[in-house]
Parts: sequence; C-alpha cells; structure tokens
Amino acid sequence: MKHAVSHSRVDASVRDAGAGVWSLHVLGTGAASAVDLGASGAVLERDGTPLLLIDCGPGTLEHYLRGYGALPPAVFITHGHMDHVAGLERLFHTAWFDPAQRGRVKLFMHANLVPILQARVADYPNAIAEGGSNFWEAFRLVALTRGFWLDGWWFDVFATRHHVPGTSFGVALRGCFGWTGDTRPIPETLSALADAQTLIAHDCALHGNPSHTGVDDLEREYPEAMRAQLLLYHYGSEADAQALRGRGFKVAVPDGRYPLHAPHPVRTEAG
Ligand SMILES: [Zn+2]
Repeated sequence: MKHAVSHSRVDASVRDAGAGVWSLHVLGTGAASAVDLGASGAVLERDGTPLLLIDCGPGTLEHYLRGYGALPPAVFITHGHMDHVAGLERLFHTAWFDPAQRGRVKLFMHANLVPILQARVADYPNAIAEGGSNFWEAFRLVALTRGFWLDGWWFDVFATRHHVPGTSFGVALRGCFGWTGDTRPIPETLSALADAQTLIAHDCALHGNPSHTGVDDLEREYPEAMRAQLLLYHYGSEADAQALRGRGFKVAVPDGRYPLHAPHPVRTEAG
C-alpha cells in the first residue's frame, strides 16, 4: 500500500525515459575568487526546459533569469559557502513578492545544511522590513539525506570532501550526470554512482589545496576511463582552463551547454 503512489509515478517516468533530450547548462565555472567566470552553478534541462538549478551563488539568479525568464522550479544547494548560497536572499525576495511564486520553488538540501543556512542566510530580524514574512516560507524547503525525487526521477545525493565532513554534498542522476560541488577527489563515490555514459562535472583547479581538487589529483586518483567522463569547473581563470585542456581534460565554459544521456529508469530510491 505504501508504495502504490510512487509506483504509478515512476512507471510514468519509465515510459518516457528515452524520449527526453537532456543537457547540463553550466552557468558559472569560477572558483570563489574568479568572479569573471561566474559563481559555480548549473541547470539541468530536459527538452530545453529547466528542471533543477544547482547552487545559487552571487549573480546566479540574475544569470538564470536572463536565460529562462522565470524563477527555477527547483534548486539544489551543495553547501553553505557564500559563492554557492549568496543568491538565496535575492531568490527569497523574488519569490516572496511574487504571489504566483511564493512557496513554490522547491529548495532541496541535505538536512545537515539546514542549521548552517539558517545561520548564513535566514537568521535576520524581520526577513522583510514590513514584517509578516518568514524566510523559509518563501520556498518549499525539502530537507533530505540520501537523495530526493523530482518529477518522477530519483536524484542521489552524496557527501563530498570539502571542509568539515558532512557539510558538502554532490548530486547525481543515474546514467545522466553527476555534479560534485566543491570537493577533493572522491573516486570511490563516483564509481558507485556513475556508469560509463554519465557526465561528471567535477571541481578542479590547476593546483589542488585542502578544499579543492587539482589536476594532479585527478591524474593520480581517477582511472583513465573516468577521467574521460569529467567536465571540469571551479577553476581560477581562463588561462587555467586552457592549461587543464592541455592536460587532456574537458573543461566547462561559462554559459556552456553539454549534452547528456537520458537517465536510467529507477524504480526505488535504493535502486
Ligand atoms: Zn566551498
């Protein structure tokens, strides 16, 4: 009985699983200091329609609105650093003051991030000067642990290696794409989530550090076949991007669109 609703929903997605054209629209590709490249973030599109915005750093919402002309239907937040969440205040205001949008934008985040974002962006006396507004009420906050359902698809959420354990997460759609968020190398995690057709958008700068991956790390820790699936972002400059290409990697450009395979049909969240 408890599975009856989800089965019918998933069956619908199975039927049309091969019909959609999927792509990843990378909005920004920059590290926190690389302002000209835009804050790292991307939009998962199906048949040209935005399904999910990943991260909402400074300028991300403006970039999104220029491209799509309306608020995103759903947003996934990887972690609480400001280059990934500074745009949430603008998103709050835009959603709150639009009666058609208030409380409609789904905001997916790991449950561990709720207290962090409460402190970073939500905790301010009177979210709007007039009063009468609760910050989270502008959204449909969906706290999660293993992943989430969206439009009949199961998205895996996985821990990454970025500052304090349990505070940074990536997202993946089986057979389609993975987005690491900020991370050191995580080959075991990605090999469990990504098959040969999965595009893996991966944090990478020219030089690694305790928070981020460098190209030497990729060459040392990832097998050759997986390296060929990577699309690098979160780098320091266009010159760094060229150097990464010179090492044989695909590197995302700001506003670039990358074709994806349609995701594998999934029948349970454990599948
Ligand atoms: Zn970060």
